[in-house]
Amino acid sequence: MTIRLRTIWDVRAFSVTLTTFVMICSLGLQNLLIEPDIAYEIRWPGMLISYILAAPITYFIGLRMYEIHRLNVDVKRAAAHDGLTGLLNRHAFVEQVKDMTQHPGVLIMADIDHFKAFNDQYGHATGDAVLKAVARVFRSFCRAEDLAARFGGEEFMIFLPDTSREDGIAVAERLRKRLGRDPMAHEGQSLKITASFGVAVLDQTTQIEEVIDQADTALYESKHLGRNRVSAAS
Ligand code: GH3
Ligand code: MG
Ligand code: MG
Repeated sequence: MTIRLRTIWDVRAFSVTLTTFVMICSLGLQNLLIEPDIAYEIRWPGMLISYILAAPITYFIGLRMYEIHRLNVDVKRAAAHDGLTGLLNRHAFVEQVKDMTQHPGVLIMADIDHFKAFNDQYGHATGDAVLKAVARVFRSFCRAEDLAARFGGEEFMIFLPDTSREDGIAVAERLRKRLGRDPMAHEGQSLKITASFGVAVLDQTTQIEEVIDQADTALYESKHLGRNRVSAAS
């Protein structure tokens, strides 16, 4: 059995329960080991001593267990997310899509156009700001059940469960237009960003890795056709 203390109220409940248990045990031991008359006489001081010892110790242990739980949550979160954008990282995205096999849907892969030239012109820090802004746009397009990831340097991926190919293409098209429509403002500069998209359908018979390859191929078709467009795997 694993005890997880998730909130400070869990810590308090843990401390109260354990302290009560220690006080009851100490009362039982007094009655077992000491003459009944004396045990009766010292029952209240005995309980008080148990309380004074047990309450701070159990509270301290509870706090440490709570901190371990928080660290555990932070480590798991950091391992699954991209540090710059806060989106899922590639590994966590693939694993989570695999867990949704009962929800076939659509993968949308996106790659920012000419991002290297953009970095060269405005600097890496501005490039990072653009990646964060693009991630915000992607996140704003996601429903609660959708997954969004930063798949690589300037590549992003979205999984839309329970979505048809046509609807997936429509979402990618809206995303593309939204990205290209409003230049991003950063430190007084107006930055125009476009991205190319590849869409592929993930059904229950196809492996995720295969569908990622299909989305990648469709994305490269968009690049070859001139960028800033959506292509779908047939
Ligand atoms: P294309 O339209 O063909 O995709 O051209 P591109 O320049 O976007 O593609 P390319 O693969 O040549 O360059 C990707 C660039 O993305 C190169 C790299 O410096 C940049 N990049 C990758 N990760 C990061 C990052 O975390 N921050 C910043 N600022 N740039 C990054
Ligand atoms: Mg790329
Ligand atoms: Mg690119």
